Amino acid sequence: MSQRPVVTRIAPSPTGMMHIGTARTALFNWLYARHTGGKFLIRVEDTDRERSTEEAVKVIFDGMAWLGLEADEPPVFQAQRADRHREVVAELLARGAAYRCYMTVEELAAERELARAEGRVVRSPWRDQAADLGDNRPFVVRFRSPQEGDTVVRDLVKGEVRFQNRQLDDLILLRSDGSPNYNLAVVVDDHDMGVTHVIRGDDHLNNAARQSLIWQAMGWELPAFAHLPLIHGPDGAKLSKRHGAQAVSEFDDMGYLPEAMRNYLARLGWGHGDDEIFSDAQAIQWFDVADVVSAPARLDWAKLNHINNHYIRQADAGRLAKLTADIHAGRGWALRPGDDEVLQRTIPLVRDGAKTMLELADATVFALKPRPLELPEKALAQLTEETRQRLARLRERLAAAASWDVPGLEAELRDFAEAEGVGLGKFGPALRAVLSGGSPAPDLAGAMVSLGHEEAIGRIDDALSQVR
Ligand code: GLU
Repeated sequence: MSQRPVVTRIAPSPTGMMHIGTARTALFNWLYARHTGGKFLIRVEDTDRERSTEEAVKVIFDGMAWLGLEADEPPVFQAQRADRHREVVAELLARGAAYRCYMTVEELAAERELARAEGRVVRSPWRDQAADLGDNRPFVVRFRSPQEGDTVVRDLVKGEVRFQNRQLDDLILLRSDGSPNYNLAVVVDDHDMGVTHVIRGDDHLNNAARQSLIWQAMGWELPAFAHLPLIHGPDGAKLSKRHGAQAVSEFDDMGYLPEAMRNYLARLGWGHGDDEIFSDAQAIQWFDVADVVSAPARLDWAKLNHINNHYIRQADAGRLAKLTADIHAGRGWALRPGDDEVLQRTIPLVRDGAKTMLELADATVFALKPRPLELPEKALAQLTEETRQRLARLRERLAAAASWDVPGLEAELRDFAEAEGVGLGKFGPALRAVLSGGSPAPDLAGAMVSLGHEEAIGRIDDALSQVR
């Protein structure tokens, strides 16, 4: 192989969703390009005009942007390149590597039948006929595939994969309506984009044989191939809807952070020893496509959750506050001015247990509820006259508190319990209910810090003024 600078690409077909397998393929291409100092490109394979709506294309760009996988050049759209594909077909014809086939629909059907009966692939009689009947009769252009020997794909993941040429029929390069065939388009585009490494799902391994023949027929230097095993569900079956999620957007909706997805997806089929958590920079430094394993990888929700929790604990609180506000808004809860600050104070206190952003959002609900809070029946029952009077005394103490932080408030609560001659258990649960309205909340001092001085005192006042 020559020492051309590495160019990789992701070539998604817009189907209306971006599969998590496509995301992993994109990630591996991106990692390999970054690792080698090469380029990572994107080509939208939009030749199915019906499916390739503007919206379906946007889903892909959104998915790539969310994953943080930026391409180094503007996207290439396959459908816009049909003229160039036809130009290469003309070149293949001129080289004798392709021929016009004028078989009619009926003739083709008969040949199909015969081929099946004889246990061989379809052959066109026009393959060995020099005749060119011109443009007046409908024709397709077929590739003149070798009929003997093997085509060998030296795959960086699968090893050497052999295809018997006699199993390959003469691929139609150009349909009778003049539209280019998919395998041809892939080769021409990969060549023109300077792609050196074709890294993609192993559902395309068979295509690699046909594509190699086209590369060779054009006298172009072949790219290296790396076919990645599919991602399976936890049960070992091909990933599908019943496994919970398969689209990138679903993982976003479920509250996974993009950096957690990158880290986790990198480990599906590749890894660096037992390292579970690593940064983009480390992955870039370590990644080599030759180290990808050929067995299918299984999605493991527990591992993904563990990694996601790690990144939630690390992330900037301001960023998480925005994401959390979006989740609440998506649930129909528009936040008020000032809530961003509440979130930024609350998140560091509640995030340790959050496996997803949805769980993190749930853990912030208590702090965002508007006053006066509706107290659950159980909380009201705790507010006996004795407890009310005690909370009223505590309220005065808190109102005068010098510092409003966790250690300061913890000390305040301890001192108060001591002065009252009771344990924290005597008033803690009631205070907690008054502050949280019965929603999950951190411990008392943490809850009060989340709420802020004014809001915490206000909630206590609301509860004390409630008539039973
Ligand atoms: N468009 C194909 C797909 O979405 C990928 C083709 C390729 O990578 O060569 O599966």
